[in-house]
Order: sequence, then C-alpha cells, then structure tokens
Amino acid sequence: MVPKNKILDIIKDYDPKDITIATLCSHTSLQIFNGAKKEGFKTLGLAVNQKTKFYDAFPLAKPDEIIRFDSYDDFVTRAEELRDRNVIIVPHGSFVEYMGTERFEAMEVPTFGNRAVLKWEEDRETQRTWLESAGIQMPRRIADAKDITEPVLVKYNGAKGGRGFFIAKDYLEFKMGIDLSQESYTIQEYVLGTRYYLHYFYSPIHPRGYRVGTGSIELLSMDRRDESNIDELYKLGATEELKKHGMFPSLVVTGNIPVVIRESLLSKVFEMGESVIERSIELFGGLIGPFCLESIVTDKLDFKVFEISCRIVAGTNPFITGSPYSDLIEPGMSTGQRIAREIKDAVAMGRLGEVVS
Ligand code: AMP
Repeated sequence: MVPKNKILDIIKDYDPKDITIATLCSHTSLQIFNGAKKEGFKTLGLAVNQKTKFYDAFPLAKPDEIIRFDSYDDFVTRAEELRDRNVIIVPHGSFVEYMGTERFEAMEVPTFGNRAVLKWEEDRETQRTWLESAGIQMPRRIADAKDITEPVLVKYNGAKGGRGFFIAKDYLEFKMGIDLSQESYTIQEYVLGTRYYLHYFYSPIHPRGYRVGTGSIELLSMDRRDESNIDELYKLGATEELKKHGMFPSLVVTGNIPVVIRESLLSKVFEMGESVIERSIELFGGLIGPFCLESIVTDKLDFKVFEISCRIVAGTNPFITGSPYSDLIEPGMSTGQRIAREIKDAVAMGRLGEVVS
C-alpha cells in the first residue's frame, strides 16, 4: 500500500486551481466526468481496452482528454505522468476489479477515498466481521452443505456481479450444482424479500445534516438491479420443470432500476449507514465518500445486508440528474458530482489530504 505520507507529499505539489479528475472509461464514468465538469474540474479518461467512441454521443460527460494504456500495470508504472497532470483518481467498481487490489494499492497517484478499506472489503469473511461488529444483520452462514434444509445461495469466492452463484434447496441440489474445480465457496441462507441497494455518501469534512464521526452521512439514492435470467424466469413456469430443460436460475446483473423505500424504514437506513461508518473509523480510519449497502427487506420489515460496496456503484447511474433523495439535499446532484464537490470543498478548506489516499 502506498503510505499515506507519500500521497500527502504528492498533493502538496499539486496546483489547487488545476486539478484533473480521472477515472477508467467504464462503469459510472459518465456521471463522474459530468459531475467533475459541473464542479469546474478538468477531466481525463483512462482506457486500457475500453471503447470510447460512445462519449461523442454525450458531450456533457465526455472527458476533456483520454489516454490509453497497454495494460493495467501501466497505471502503476506511468504514475508520474498522471501526477504531472495533478490527477486525482476516482475509483469505481470496475476500476478496482480490473486492476486488482495489489496494483490498486500500489498506484502512487492520489485516489478519492480511503484505500485501507480494501482489505476489509475484498473478502466475504472480513466484510462480515466489519458489518456484524457494527450490528448489521447479515444472511446466516451454513458451514456444512449437509445441513442445507432450506433455500440457500452458494457463492464461489471471487464471484462478482451475480455470476458464479447458484441456488440449492437441499443437499442433493447442492451436489448437483457444485463445481468442484472452483476453489472455495460460501453457503448462506437465501433471504426472501425485496432488494434495496442503498447509496450513501460519508463526508468526514462536513459536520452538517445527519452527523456521524467528524462529518455527516447523506443518502443519495437507491436502486434495484435487473438480474438475468432470474427476474424473468417466472414467466416460463415452475423452476423445477425448467431444470429438466437445462434452464437454471442465474443472477447476472444487466441493469439498474430506480426505487424508493417505505418512508418509515428511512430511520433504519440511516442507523445502518451510521454504524457502518462508525465501525470503519475504529477499524481502519474510516470509509470516505460513496458506499452501498446491498440489502433485502423481509416481510417482517427486517433488513439483511448481503454485501457492502465501498465506492460508487453502478446503481447510481439512473440518477445523473438527481434522485428523490438527493433532490432534497441539492436538486440535481448525482453521486459523481457529489464526489467532485467533496474534492472541491476539501481543496478550498485546505483539507484535501483527508479525503484522498
Ligand atoms: P452479490 O454479487 O453479492 O451482489 O449478489 C448478487 C445477487 O444475488 C444479488 O443482487 C441478490 O439478488 C442475490 N443475493 C445475494 N445474496 C443473497 C441472499 N443471501 N439471499 C437472497 N439473494 C441474495
């Protein structure tokens, strides 16, 4: 991991009036660039094998410049080139996934947020330690497949975006579904309920609104993912019957749908965000910026959180022009713009070092 002192030294040499916001040309880059432009920053697209012509169709989100790299190693080896442009990288889900934790940690370029979160986030067990110790309810774990007596979700470690999961209702189904060539997996209770992906933002520098730690939490939006094929499978009738035709449910994310939650659940939403942040401050100095609790609300109105994402998630994309929640903070504010605003405010307050690592 690049030591924080090194990053603080780097930003000392940055011209505060000439900062460039950069991100990988994928995932949530449209709102990151659009938001950065609205806040008056220069923008830089970073591309490895991403196609970039589609930006021509979206002038308000097209980065001022795009630079291409031969591989993700170049983000580490060509760091000086990025520093020379006073770059602050805004990492998104794909950025970290494609780069891999090691390279992402080694990159000697200031990045928005606290990179120390990675070692708590990358593994399901450490996530569970963090979230459960913050009082968050998570789906029950089943240690031994022979104990499967109700629907479970089997998750291969490293599986992302709903790929690499399968549902089993008993041990026999587990044995039929398990791919023994995969390294390791976890089994957890399949929580029946409705899914809410809660998009929060923690600012350590703005003690206003809903106060937490040294700053405050905002709730910017919520989505539900479109998942193929499970979301449409019911149209074909009973799943058991379909299996005979080789059709199995899958949970591959294909898009995002905006949602709002019952207003009476909002207090609980904030309490969960608050305890996750407070615990993160104790464990590793605190998560900074956007994060998402991926939750299921049962018919008892209990929340079960099956995952945390510690940066901007693709579920914020339906809200480039604001959401029913962010509009009550500042109309039209996207998560992408909120990140740029935080950087701008931190620069103006002389506290940039508190929001980058
Ligand atoms: P993930 O990759 O952890 O975000 O999960 C992918 C999808 O699997 C989610 O969007 C949910 O639809 C579903 N899922 C994950 N964990 C559970 C669970 N314990 N119970 C029910 N559905 C789940």
